Amino acid sequence: MADVTLRKVVKRYDDVEAVRGIDLDIADHEFVVLVGPSGCGKSTTLRMIAGLEDISDGDIMIGGDVVNDVPPKDRDIAMVFQNYALYPHMTVAENMSFGLRLKHYPKAEIKSRVTEAARMLDITDLIDRKPKQLSGGQRQRVAMGRAIVRNPKVFLFDEPLSNLDAKLRVQMRIEIKKVHQKVRTTTVYVTHDQVEAMTLADRVVVMNHGRIEQIGTPNELYHKPATRFVASFIGSPAMNFVPCRLEDVAGKLNVRLTDRLAFPLPPARAARYGSLPRTDKLLLGIRPEHVMEARPHAEPGIEPFDAVLDVTEPMGMETLVYFTLEGSQVCGRVNPNAGAQDGSPLRLAVDLNNMHLLNEVTGAVL
Ligand code: ADP
Repeated sequence: MADVTLRKVVKRYDDVEAVRGIDLDIADHEFVVLVGPSGCGKSTTLRMIAGLEDISDGDIMIGGDVVNDVPPKDRDIAMVFQNYALYPHMTVAENMSFGLRLKHYPKAEIKSRVTEAARMLDITDLIDRKPKQLSGGQRQRVAMGRAIVRNPKVFLFDEPLSNLDAKLRVQMRIEIKKVHQKVRTTTVYVTHDQVEAMTLADRVVVMNHGRIEQIGTPNELYHKPATRFVASFIGSPAMNFVPCRLEDVAGKLNVRLTDRLAFPLPPARAARYGSLPRTDKLLLGIRPEHVMEARPHAEPGIEPFDAVLDVTEPMGMETLVYFTLEGSQVCGRVNPNAGAQDGSPLRLAVDLNNMHLLNEVTGAVL
């Protein structure tokens, strides 16, 4: 097992700069997920770590050794792809052991590694089947087994669950997490799915346009996003953004959305934002769970307002409500018994103790 380090790594394809100087330290045993929209450079980054793409600039180290010029087969990594490409004429056991047999491992060693990996992945009963006799999820497990038996320094996953249906994706996510808890191999995992990133990762690396926007634990990214991009990418439904500015009224600080609507800030927030210029164009960032039905005797910082709902989505344990707040579409999460109906008014409240304030121009979270 090993740590993985990227130093100022750049990848250029002719005139396209796909990866623009990435610095990343992945600790031994760590599970790191690279996430971002299509085309942000995450697969290219993974493929450079694997050695499947040359790097244009910078250094990549695995276990402390610079591997820039080391061919993939000598990097001691195992990669699991979206298209897991099992050999159709081989059994599960033969597929899993293929790499070890090529390297002339002793038979007993191969058998014990395959048996152990099959046990870990709960596919012992399938060991003599051919791939066509397996479900998609079972094939995915075999592909993981093939990586595990090699006992590599690093696992690399490139969107391994994209071909599976939604239910199976959730199951396999849990399987991958369990496997990592057992083998503890350093893992770099690429996905465009922020839920997958949040649920699997020790740390998430959010990428955008070939750069790293933010690195953090799932909770850090959710609660302390650094930029509007991260704030809107992490979390579903996404954070709401409403243009606003700060104003002083009788020695108190308000956040004003329009001529008609302003909310007084709770003391902790007023202290935090008090030194910001009152002329700055800002955005109030508020997650849907902090927009709920108004209740009597609400805590300080929870401010009521009236909305007319455009659309409601009953989810069972909660109802999502969508409405326009002074020109911005906003999503809230209300109790299923709150009486939310399409086209009807509802008294809602916003929890300003959990608000974010962003610079509208730079997108920085303040
Ligand atoms: P992601 O995995 O985040 O979807 P990629 O790493 O695949 O993104 O691609 C990043 C950028 O590099 C994209 O703009 C893509 O079009 C470009 N790119 C990827 N591979 C090549 C290639 N072989 N030649 C030219 N451009 C490429």
